[in-house]
Amino acid sequence: MLFLKRNQKRNQKKKPKESVLTIRENVTSMWFYHFALDGKPICGTSDLTMPTNVPVDAWGWVSDHIHERYCPECTKRYNKMNIG
Ligand SMILES: [Zn+2]
Repeated sequence: MLFLKRNQKRNQKKKPKESVLTIRENVTSMWFYHFALDGKPICGTSDLTMPTNVPVDAWGWVSDHIHERYCPECTKRYNKMNIG
């Protein structure tokens, strides 16, 4: 959680102040991540997710051991948000 707070401060210029962007992990699929605004996955999935301490900047990073996966729909929507 400390991690996230630090990260959010750093990215303050990029995103709307009223919403907090975080990364959440699917409860049923291990190492499958979604972007979430105020705790709700932005792709609108009905899958259960749980909070992580993964910094938003780490989105897309895949380690050799874990092979993290990232929701393609969340990626699309996040890119749209950034482009505006
Ligand atoms: Zn998603």
